[in-house]
Amino acid sequence: MKWCVLCKRFSAEIAAPTLRAVLAFEICPNSCYAKNSNDFRFMFQELAMQTETRVGFGYDVHRFGPNTYEQGLVRLCGVDIPHDQALEGHSDADVGMHALCDAIYGALADGDIGAHFPPSDPQWKGAESQVFLRHAASLIAKTGGRLVNCDVTLVCERPKIGPHRPAMRAALAELLGVVVARVAVKATTSEGLGFTGRQEGIAAHAVVSIEVPKSNDEEAAEAEALLAGGLLE
Ligand code: MG
Repeated sequence: MKWCVLCKRFSAEIAAPTLRAVLAFEICPNSCYAKNSNDFRFMFQELAMQTETRVGFGYDVHRFGPNTYEQGLVRLCGVDIPHDQALEGHSDADVGMHALCDAIYGALADGDIGAHFPPSDPQWKGAESQVFLRHAASLIAKTGGRLVNCDVTLVCERPKIGPHRPAMRAALAELLGVVVARVAVKATTSEGLGFTGRQEGIAAHAVVSIEVPKSNDEEAAEAEALLAGGLLE
């Protein structure tokens, strides 16, 4: 039994050897490929459209304190905001951008920001977080995929985020290489509760959705596992 990438099922019949040799995967004679007069172009279009949507989540916290990137400023989602406290961090402490990076790494199942840019490595001391976000975006591009949308929520009592939202969305969109409509930045307080409520630091949550080409090898392996487990006929 072979897995047909077009029909999404196992077939006892396998594709012509020439086709397998060229494409390195197998297509059964019952597939839409065969039903469309063995039209190669149609088959390639079908395969090109086979993408999957993946979702990633990221979370980060930075505390207010003296060991800061720049006194009198907090950098949030790429925008410097004057504030009477500053965030501590090894880099520029852009908590929103860090959460967004982790969301992208999560969607790609490719580690986290600490794995890619270890805080123990002195070369990242005082680094601009846009370096991290550009790297995360480049990993999406490397798969041949694209970012569908992202959504960042900053949790703090102060500074007020609303007036800076358009600049933050524009900064993130530029770094990600997408239109601003794909980037949301939201803010909330925690009603005076917890460390954000006591204004000891700022927390950020981020969610991203990405679309990446489907891995036919992975799909076939998953199908084989289901078949072996008796979950697929
Ligand atoms: Mg961080």
